[in-house]
Amino acid sequence: MMRVFLAIPLPETVRDQLSIVAQMLPVPRRVPPENLHLTLTFLGDASARDLEALHSALEGVQVPSFPIALRGLDVFGRDKPKSVHATIAPQPALTRLAGKVETAARRAGIEVAARKFVPHVTLARFRPAEVDVPRLERAIIDLAGVSAGPFDVTGFTLYQSHLGDGPPVYEVLAEYELRS
Ligand code: ATP
Ligand code: MG
Repeated sequence: MMRVFLAIPLPETVRDQLSIVAQMLPVPRRVPPENLHLTLTFLGDASARDLEALHSALEGVQVPSFPIALRGLDVFGRDKPKSVHATIAPQPALTRLAGKVETAARRAGIEVAARKFVPHVTLARFRPAEVDVPRLERAIIDLAGVSAGPFDVTGFTLYQSHLGDGPPVYEVLAEYELRS
């Protein structure tokens, strides 16, 4: 089985901007710049056969490209924060793409957890005990004005995530283009 997910890769300029923002956060570990991405659907463990069916289904996803922009920061975990992310300015085309990709995964027989799509780019992950929460909250308020983009989303990628000690390695398994 392979640990896989579908995500939008970010242009290098945007990753550079976000990694500068991440440097300003009082957190113990940041996502390495090359790993910054926008997850569309987390698929979890999938077999080679699942992935073949998924590949066929995804090749049928016909969506025009669209712009997105990053605006401000937020945390997951509220008063016990586990991660900090950049939020995405509302973009219905992005929500539609995530919906189509999720439907394609289900059609391919992959079980996808039913949860609301909250588009974000994770900048740092940690355990709540590892951060000074009031200090982190202040930093997030101070950085409320950060932005990156807009840039055109021209495709999405199927990644295999290799977990181990240290940051994961995301391997590109397949790339899907949006219509320009
Ligand atoms: P690590 O788990 O070592 O901190 P990571 O979260 O980047 O690294 P994965 O856990 O393989 O690596 O996750 C890959 C992508 O899928 C990340 O964007 C992650 O936020 C997202 N993801 C992981 N698990 C889930 C889940 N249960 N539901 C939704 N998204 C998830
Ligand atoms: Mg994870």
